[in-house]
Amino acid sequence: MTRPTYVIVGANLAGGRAAVALRDEGFDGNIVLIGAEAYPPYERPPLSKGFLTGTTAPESIYLHPLDFYAEHQIDLRLGVTVRRIQPQWGSVELDDGSTLAAEQVLLTTGARLRRLDVSGAELDGVHYLRDIDDAVAIRDHLRSPARVTVVGGGFIGAEVAATACENGCEVTMLETAELPLRRALGPEIARFYADVHRRHGVDLRTGTRVVAFEGDQGRVRKVITHEGTAIDTDLVIIGIGTEPASELAQSAEIATADGILVDAYCRTSHPHVYAAGDVVRHLSRWAATPVRLEHWQGAQNQALTAARSMLGHLDPYDEVPWYWSDQFDLNLQIAGIPRPDDSQVLRGDMDEGSFSILYLRNGHISCIVAVNRPRDVRPAMKLIEASTPVDACELADVSVELRRLVSKPSVSVPLGGTGA
Ligand code: FAD
Ligand code: NAP
Repeated sequence: MTRPTYVIVGANLAGGRAAVALRDEGFDGNIVLIGAEAYPPYERPPLSKGFLTGTTAPESIYLHPLDFYAEHQIDLRLGVTVRRIQPQWGSVELDDGSTLAAEQVLLTTGARLRRLDVSGAELDGVHYLRDIDDAVAIRDHLRSPARVTVVGGGFIGAEVAATACENGCEVTMLETAELPLRRALGPEIARFYADVHRRHGVDLRTGTRVVAFEGDQGRVRKVITHEGTAIDTDLVIIGIGTEPASELAQSAEIATADGILVDAYCRTSHPHVYAAGDVVRHLSRWAATPVRLEHWQGAQNQALTAARSMLGHLDPYDEVPWYWSDQFDLNLQIAGIPRPDDSQVLRGDMDEGSFSILYLRNGHISCIVAVNRPRDVRPAMKLIEASTPVDACELADVSVELRRLVSKPSVSVPLGGTGA
């Protein structure tokens, strides 16, 4: 009898973890892991941080050494793009025109960067940052006394601006909104981060839109803003968000809505197709509507859920969302999902750069944003998970360790959202 073949499309964090999880769970069929990049699965978080400061070799951020995949009978195919999936025929079509049989398909195609459509965007020295090749191309120029312009004040922009500053560059950050990181962090903490960047010398300009890049001999020299200001620059790094790489699902008529729609078991609308990681939009009991969360934890752990589901072991993905960002000497951790009408409690001292903001809804914590207070995070996640009733005064009192509040009675919340 021929052994079944499971094909995983997208060989980075989610795809790599899922392939290994299939083996760990005892699957003895064929696993084909297909990736468009030239590298085996690797960690992206260092790319905007430490990887940009030194000469770290790409191998140091691989999830596993290259040999590992063959040793685990995982057929890893790199530099190969999947052109089409045809789950109704049990097949997957590659860009060289060949076709693979696939009993089940897992889509872990992630996200791709939004491009800035202005004149001069093709000049040398204008970069985006998503993969190892981007980071290698940037880091050679991210040295004193380079003048670096960062376009976009999201996570890529804020982390790269901090790293460039630490490398001795002269940094300008341009953000269209009134504050960088506002959507993710809310206005108070976004303002705090704006001040931190300015204190470290970043020339942060908000409410500013880039309309063109101008160059000399093919290399970028100026960034032109909508007010007509020209900023002299040696290097531009653009980070203006992503789009889900969900086109394979769309052309196979699998349900999507700014991301591939999956249930708690990473099942798509097709019974033989699963999806995980940055590409999916999923139900979360912590959010009122399905969410697309583009962070390491979800990609890593949804992949494990998807692998188990492919083997018929249904175990929901039901974690409190968590992620982190390192900028200058600040470690930021966020767990949970806040809503605009949640009340807030400050714990610690913003002026000293060590504080948490706890978001409260119906008497329990919905989210924590912790800046240089890592010890608040795990207990807060337990309180969020169990919907433990909390007292705002106790939360604000730093002499009360949050872990002491963890064992209080909990209220159970059904998977799929709390509604209000
Ligand atoms: P991806 O990493 O996007 O991988 C998808 C892969 O699929 C890609 O290699 C792509 O080439 C491939 N692919 C797409 N279509 C096809 C196709 N048709 N055929 C073959 N291959 C295909 N998260 C945090 O929580 N904390 C951090 O500090 C943090 N820092 C980050 C820093 C940077 C610079 C970046 C870019 C991301 C960072 N993240 C961070 C986010 C985290 O890295 C992502 O959430 C994670 O990489 C998502 O993994 P994924 O496997 O779902 O998707
Ligand atoms: P992002 O965090 O979504 O931020 C994009 C930023 O660019 C937002 O501030 C956005 O403003 C702004 N913007 C949008 N269009 C713009 C324009 N035309 N000109 C100037 N600014 C514009 O995305 P990202 O920073 O590009 O990061 C890409 C992905 O990597 C994201 O999924 C991110 O989560 C992930 N990542 C995560 C981490 C982390 O978790 N620590 C670190 C790096 C990257 P508005 O919000 O007002 O639209």
